[in-house]
Amino acid sequence: MDISFSEQDLQFQEEIRSALANDYPSHVREKQEQGMVLSKQDMIDFHKFLYEKNWAGYNWPVEFGGTGWSPVQIYLFLNELAAAQCPTILPFGVSMVGPVIYTFGNQEQKDRFLPDILQFNSWWCQGYSEPGSGSDLASLKTKAVLEGDHYIVNGAKTWTTLAQNADWIFCLVRTETTQKKQEGISFLLN
Ligand SMILES: Cc1cc2nc3c(=O)[nH]c(=O)nc-3n(C[C@H](O)[C@H](O)[C@H](O)COP(=O)(O)OP(=O)(O)OC[C@H]3O[C@@H](n4cnc5c(N)ncnc54)[C@H](O)[C@@H]3O)c2cc1C
Repeated sequence: MDISFSEQDLQFQEEIRSALANDYPSHVREKQEQGMVLSKQDMIDFHKFLYEKNWAGYNWPVEFGGTGWSPVQIYLFLNELAAAQCPTILPFGVSMVGPVIYTFGNQEQKDRFLPDILQFNSWWCQGYSEPGSGSDLASLKTKAVLEGDHYIVNGAKTWTTLAQNADWIFCLVRTETTQKKQEGISFLLN
């Protein structure tokens, strides 16, 4: 089996490499090279740089504003980012909630959220784990009750990575009391 990269793949790799060499924001690069902690603004700047290069939706289909790259291109892209000392792309928007919205959301939800995720206008965090509810998420207790056109949410979430920077959270919440604990759970955007 031939697993070497094609000519096109190597050209793609070179394009990413030279774009990073020229355009990767120097204040983020310098901090990364010195092992310094990036500020919230540094992370926003880095993600906006990805958007400006049309790379923000590196793992999304073209129809939703993504690159439509193949798995090999995604692999090469991520390798080049790592080699250039880029921070890790935050997964919460582009890899977690975004694909759920473009796969299952209605048009209004897609219009409302997908551009903001790509442009990094909103920082998302993930609200699944709870005190006492980790691997077994079906035991989660946070409740959401619909009152008018709002959900009233009560409960506790934990382990919420970078929640201090977030504008939005996608949460798993209990919206129905059911016999089977794996049922009655909804995915709420707050
Ligand atoms: C750095 C970090 C960041 C995180 N960020 C987030 C976040 O942003 N949002 C979020 O929602 N969560 C987050 N988590 C939570 C994480 O994804 C897991 O849900 C959580 O760590 C697991 O729950 P727990 O720690 O309560 O362990 P438990 O679920 O209590 O597990 C404890 C131990 O028991 C083992 N175990 C559990 N169930 C079984 C089983 N059925 N059979 C055999 N062994 C079992 C586990 O492997 C583990 O060794 C984060 C965790 C870490 C470490």
